[in-house]
Amino acid sequence: MRGLMMNTPLLISAIAEHAARYHGGREIVSVTADNPRHRYTVAEAMARARQLANALVKLGLSKGDRVATIAWNDYRHLEIYYGVSGSGYVCHTINPRLFAEQLVFIINHAQDRWIFVDPMFLPLIEKIADKITGVEGFVVLTDEAHMPDTSLQNVRCYETLVGAESSDFAWPELDENSAAALCYTSGTTGDPKGVLYSHRSTLLHAYAGVAPDVMNLSSRDNVLPVVPLFHVNAWGIPYSALMVGAKLVLPGPKMGDGETLYALMDSEDVTLALGVPTVWLALLQYMAKAGKRLDKLKSTIIGGAAVPRSMIEEFRDKHDVEVRQGWGMTEMSPLGTVNTAKAGLESMSGDEQLDLATKAGRGIFGVEMRIVDADGVEQPWDGVAYGALQVRGLWICSDYFRLEGGAGTHTPDGWFETGDVATIDPHGYLAITDRTKDVIKSGGEWISSIELENVATDHSAVAEAAVIGVAHPKWTERPLLVVVKAEGQEVSKDDLLAWFDGKVASWCVPDDVAFVEELPHTATGKVKKIELRKQFADYRLPD
Ligand code: AMP
Repeated sequence: MRGLMMNTPLLISAIAEHAARYHGGREIVSVTADNPRHRYTVAEAMARARQLANALVKLGLSKGDRVATIAWNDYRHLEIYYGVSGSGYVCHTINPRLFAEQLVFIINHAQDRWIFVDPMFLPLIEKIADKITGVEGFVVLTDEAHMPDTSLQNVRCYETLVGAESSDFAWPELDENSAAALCYTSGTTGDPKGVLYSHRSTLLHAYAGVAPDVMNLSSRDNVLPVVPLFHVNAWGIPYSALMVGAKLVLPGPKMGDGETLYALMDSEDVTLALGVPTVWLALLQYMAKAGKRLDKLKSTIIGGAAVPRSMIEEFRDKHDVEVRQGWGMTEMSPLGTVNTAKAGLESMSGDEQLDLATKAGRGIFGVEMRIVDADGVEQPWDGVAYGALQVRGLWICSDYFRLEGGAGTHTPDGWFETGDVATIDPHGYLAITDRTKDVIKSGGEWISSIELENVATDHSAVAEAAVIGVAHPKWTERPLLVVVKAEGQEVSKDDLLAWFDGKVASWCVPDDVAFVEELPHTATGKVKKIELRKQFADYRLPD
């Protein structure tokens, strides 16, 4: 027997309608290249999203067509999120930090029809214009007064395009499984792969995101996503924040600058901020230097890479800010786990709490996890046994966009291979120990490069560290620690190696240290280990 409940589709436009009705007066504050502090309300934002929807119809788009963005976090980008997806097209967010050949690949592969682009990224597009001839036109995200000169053809001004339209627009009633947004993984190997989010997966993810043990987001919050709108939908914040009526503070091009971030957080009373560890490193460094403290920030969600213990400690002890570590990936929309305390663990000491906080967190309802060994045998959740991490659930990709033959990333029984290696403890806390490709295979045992990197970055003289496996005649591979020294700091090889004593098992201590000026990074800021391994291909470990 079927239940007798309404089968209302889960649509992004429903968030737009709800936000305008219930939280219409809530502010959205942006830093943009043409305005250091733009403010307006949710009602205005959603009205302009409907104006944009009218303009998109006139551009002759059909349902499912891809409309790309190359833009920072600001109000115009947010309007595109709603205007494009809400009217049945696919909002394809592109990372401007990608290399030219990757941009060409992604734009052509996605078959983007129009590109909405920040003025400062026009030169990127101009350079590849002759290779993306499928694109019909470009909309520059500014007003007429700030329109730059460009060699591109068929270029429109965003404010003129939107300003010419009425805000009367009835959002179409779409199938909830239809595509809403597209984001390519910036993978370190092979061509980027497109993850195609549906309205349903986006809504469920946004719903889960606001829960107390996830982002704990409410209408009383002021949220600053320092995670870019061009990477995994800024962890769902554009949807979750509007769903509950939290004030949105969007940092525009000023994402990596500690001083600007601090000023923005302070003046806009930000209560929750989200970002990758590198961003918070810049902020903490600025605050330490300038003697500043974050008085209003309650918590920060940090993910995308392992969060150093020292960072969690500094936020907690100097700023009284709770760090919630999160783990996820583009293929997971991205939320998989978030680290919050669990009932029964209250009696832990401060040090034990810190140890726990360095883990990636507990699984969120909607995502199932399992760890398996090389033969596919499930491993126990004892916090010791490690295995390849597989997931399945409500907002996990079932395939990649237009990838004939698949990517071989799904198991025959329907789980997605994350490519991460992890342990899960009896309380359900996941700890990422490595990427399957980066783990160091030493004498039949696996050494976690992430664990060694965490220990290294806790040393005050280390700005950044990466550990790679290098060939060893007896053990197959042994760890080499590659270090960028902190500005003005000195440390010797022997001192650094001694730093590991008692912190990791003795057989895991790196065999050697190499000092470098900088590490190679991917477009999303992760260390490019493939590149690093190439760099050290001829490296010989000391006897
Ligand atoms: P992306 O798809 O670019 O967001 O990258 C996802 C990958 O980032 C994951 O598969 C992990 O390898 C890594 N990652 C994300 N969060 C964490 C975390 N908290 N700790 C360690 N690695 C992480």
